[in-house]
Amino acid sequence: MEALGRLVYCKTFYHLIQISSFKNLKVSEIKNKPLPSWLKKPSRGSSETHELKKLLRKSKLNTVCEEARCPNISECFQRGTATFMILGDICTRGCRFCSVITGKPLMPSTDFAAEGMRVAEAAISLGLKHVVVTSVARDDLKDGGASGFYETIKALRNNIKDITIEVLIPDFRGSTEALQIVVDAGPDVINHNLETVPSLYRKVRPGSSYIRSLELLQKVKELDKNITTKTGIMLGLGETESEVKELMNDAVGYKVEIFTAGQYMQPSLEHLPVFKYLPPEEFKSYKTYAESLSFKAVYIDPLVRSSYHAGEILSNSLAS
Ligand code: SF4
Repeated sequence: MEALGRLVYCKTFYHLIQISSFKNLKVSEIKNKPLPSWLKKPSRGSSETHELKKLLRKSKLNTVCEEARCPNISECFQRGTATFMILGDICTRGCRFCSVITGKPLMPSTDFAAEGMRVAEAAISLGLKHVVVTSVARDDLKDGGASGFYETIKALRNNIKDITIEVLIPDFRGSTEALQIVVDAGPDVINHNLETVPSLYRKVRPGSSYIRSLELLQKVKELDKNITTKTGIMLGLGETESEVKELMNDAVGYKVEIFTAGQYMQPSLEHLPVFKYLPPEEFKSYKTYAESLSFKAVYIDPLVRSSYHAGEILSNSLAS
């Protein structure tokens, strides 16, 4: 009951923040565009989806798949894959595209090791060979939550033979010390999403910095050249073609090895509206351009999310 009350409070509080910041948009921007056919995906329930949800509830685990209302959730859950979201379910940032609750986090850092073990146990139950772990932003903590990643990576590594581990990290406000903690745990992939082109940062990712994110990715390679670096963006927020190409060139220059891009989809009316649904041909054209650069693997398609088919993409990048 208490938890429900907290959730209702946080969601309401979050929506109030979102609605008030929405006033900065022009009325023409707020129009909700109908979803084109190529983005419609049947969301069929299945016994696999049901079992996975049951396991997540029982283990008190969160997934970004559910929190971010990912369009691929039925497909991924039916395949027994999910992206675990650690460090609680309340985020200290208020990115305008994201439906994770914003507020004051409740999970203390003393609970991180136990959460890491629960992720490892869930991964064992699901028979996962590649695990993706992300988190809410924890700007309230001195290490930005890096020790939570450390605990989870170690729990997975110590309990599952031959597992590959991908972490999708926040920017830790550019802290090399925090990044070092994650690197020391030895993940196979460190992903940090640039999300959009620099000209849209204030509107889409307030409180974050394009250059700081690029530098974080480059620092990963400086700290451990064996860790694969990965980034991703959303398209359809109002970026231009030349800005996207410039971003891809920047990513290569800052030592990013895997690049992903997919269509931005508005999670609710309180979130940033879609500026444009790019037709599949435009995605193909960006893919061709990205493949002409020196990335090891590229995954660009309307429904791609940074953790979509993550295991296969890592294998492709290692084979190249
Ligand atoms: S694409 Fe990623 S976030 Fe979406 S359902 Fe699949 S694993 Fe979850």
